[in-house]
Amino acid sequence: MKITENVIKLDCTKGSYAYAVIIDEAVTLIDTSLPGRANAIVSELKTYGINLLDIKRILLTHHDIDHIGNAAYFQENCDCEILISRIDYDYVLEHKKRHGIKKVLGAIMKVDIPKSLKQINTDKIDCFSVISTPGHTPGHTCFQYNDVLFAGDLISSKNGNPIMPPSIMNWNKGELIGSLQKLSIENVKYICPAHGEPIMVNNNWSEFIKTISKK
Ligand SMILES: [Zn+2]
Repeated sequence: MKITENVIKLDCTKGSYAYAVIIDEAVTLIDTSLPGRANAIVSELKTYGINLLDIKRILLTHHDIDHIGNAAYFQENCDCEILISRIDYDYVLEHKKRHGIKKVLGAIMKVDIPKSLKQINTDKIDCFSVISTPGHTPGHTCFQYNDVLFAGDLISSKNGNPIMPPSIMNWNKGELIGSLQKLSIENVKYICPAHGEPIMVNNNWSEFIKTISKK
C-alpha cells in the first residue's frame, strides 16, 4: 500500500512491516521483516514496477530478527549496502549477545548474517534523517524521509494511535520513554511502525506522550 507517492508499505510483511522508499528509481528498504519473506517482498515490489536490482540500500532500525530477516538475501542478490547504528551492528554480527527473551528467539529463529554491514556515522543519509532512539534496543534508530517517520519498534500502533511496544521486548523502558519524549514530530505527518498500521499524527501523539510520562 502506498503511504505517499514514493513510500510503500510492504503488505506481505504484516506482523513486522518493512517499507520501500523510491527516490529517482533507486529503492531503499527500511527493515526486511522476518526470515523467509524475501520472495514475497520481491513479488510485491514487482507490482509497483520495482525489480530486485533496483534495491540499492537497506536501512535497519535495529538488530531484532524480525527486522534483519532478509537483509542477507537482498545483499547477495542485488548487492545493496546495508546500514545500522554502530551499537546494534555488534548484535547483528553476534559480537554481542541479544538481551532477555531475544536470546531465546535468536536461538529458535535462525537468520543469515549479511556479509557486508556498515555502521551509520552520520545524521543524514541522502534524503533520510537519522534519529537515534535507544530503548527498545541499545542502538535503535528511526529514519525520517520528508514527512514520513519510519519508527521501527520505537512505537507500535493500535486503532490509529501510537502504543508502547510490549515491555518484555524492550531492552530499557526508561531509555525508551526518554527517546519518545525527545522525538520531534513537528514535521511528521505519517508514522510507520513495524508492528501495527501506519498512523497519521494528530493530537494522538501528545496524548500518548502524556500517558507514558505519567507511568
Ligand atoms: Zn524489535
